[in-house]
Amino acid sequence: MQILDFIQSLIPNLPCLLRTETGPVLSIVSLPFNPLRLACLIVWIYLCLYLVQCFQFSPLVPQKYRPAAYIISLFAGPILLLILLIADTLKKSSQSKTGIFKILKQQLQNTFANMRSRRAERRRDDSTIRLLDSSGRSIDEIYGHSGKKRKDSHILDLTEQLIADALDRRASDILIDPEDEATYTVRLRIDGVLRTVKKLKTDTSKAIVNSIKAVSGMDISEKRRPQDGAFIAKRAGTTASFRVASAGVLSGEKLSIRLLNQEACTFTLADVGLTKKQRSIIKSAIKKPSGMVLLCGPTGSGKTTTMYAMLNEIDRFTRNVITVEDPIESMLPETSQIEINPKADITFAKTLRSILRQDPDVICIGEIRDEETAEIALRASQTGHLVLATIHCDSNATALVRLLDLGVSPLLLSSGLSLLVSQRLLRRLCNHCKKPAQLSQNRIRKFERKGIDYTNIFDAAGCRHCDKTGYLGRTAVCDLMVITDQLKVDIAGNKAFIAEARNEVGKKDSSNLSRQALKKVISGITTLEELKRVVG
Ligand SMILES: [Zn+2]
Repeated sequence: MQILDFIQSLIPNLPCLLRTETGPVLSIVSLPFNPLRLACLIVWIYLCLYLVQCFQFSPLVPQKYRPAAYIISLFAGPILLLILLIADTLKKSSQSKTGIFKILKQQLQNTFANMRSRRAERRRDDSTIRLLDSSGRSIDEIYGHSGKKRKDSHILDLTEQLIADALDRRASDILIDPEDEATYTVRLRIDGVLRTVKKLKTDTSKAIVNSIKAVSGMDISEKRRPQDGAFIAKRAGTTASFRVASAGVLSGEKLSIRLLNQEACTFTLADVGLTKKQRSIIKSAIKKPSGMVLLCGPTGSGKTTTMYAMLNEIDRFTRNVITVEDPIESMLPETSQIEINPKADITFAKTLRSILRQDPDVICIGEIRDEETAEIALRASQTGHLVLATIHCDSNATALVRLLDLGVSPLLLSSGLSLLVSQRLLRRLCNHCKKPAQLSQNRIRKFERKGIDYTNIFDAAGCRHCDKTGYLGRTAVCDLMVITDQLKVDIAGNKAFIAEARNEVGKKDSSNLSRQALKKVISGITTLEELKRVVG
């Protein structure tokens, strides 16, 4: 009876409710829109969204039919849904003898609760991180999830949290070291600077170290001998690769975890931070069919990223590009990348010799460490190959001396080299919190004497965007040395030139880099403190 009463009460009112021209709704209040139609439209949109969400998560609808299901749901779905809802409500009401509105209210409550739990599930999926070994086994599988006690799962949670935290904070390295007998410190290298983020008890730390060693394919029982391994972390559709090295130290075991910069292949020379003039010099050097471009700088000075940026300038469809790296940081399309592995006797020198037989146009060498590699690379650069390589040293002059000291002949060096690039990375100021610099009178006088505009110099502050450091990201400063004909003659036989270069070894003379860095300071990209920290 109740249902019939309800429908009957609706039907007589319905025509006048929906009548737009002469009906009571619009005749009483004259609004520029029909509120009833607007309400219907909003309900319609909500129902459409709900249906689309249902299809998105429904395992019954195959992926390829989902777009069609969305379109159908937008036109016919809400009507179908309303009919089903009314029919279901009527059925339940007649069965349980409960009022229609009560059942309707209950059903709506259930629907909203469902939607909320789905959303929460999706959020959890996005934030969950999974650590996998090189064969794709998860850390839980390695540990045998079911048979272990609760303590293990707590440690695995802590390990995953540690890695997720490092990824969130854009860390390039994670260092876990014993501080003393009772505590371990966890430090992150963010934008090239180490920060202590956690102190943990020795027992917990040892368990975390073991779980990382296990997922990296290392021997857990071996605590003294240095070992290395690798693992990957998957989160919300992204993958990060890590390299792990362990070593026994005085009060325990030390672990260094390095995050490979997989975005390195997306950088261009402009992204790296080079000036227009520097970019054009580099571009003309890498356009040539032969010669060697040598990148110099200490560890973590961004040499590899600049090398990838150079490779991005090269047309890799028309030129056969082969790289030899240790390790491969980033996958570069249309390139043959080879990773060296000294344990399996795959060294830089041996790999270089073999790839020379594969008719390469461009050879990229991760790092020149010995005479053999240097010689093969320089000879290749003279015989119709463009060679890009990096060497670990402070400046361009030091690189020349280093190569001569390795045993390379001055003649070979002078004829092979075409460009030297030495590089440093400066932290960029966070744009959300940088504040005008407080300069001393002395410093202002110095700037005025040199005619430098100091009005755009900023200091670091710190906010939630930059993890309270005041800096966010980095930019490169470079010093270029083009090997001109005169320089070739000097390198090949001028003893005074070589002696002068030798004098520079060990000195912190990086006046060119300082000049480049100062330009970045006065244009508000970095700070005077950062200039002092990096280039002195
Ligand atoms: Zn900030």
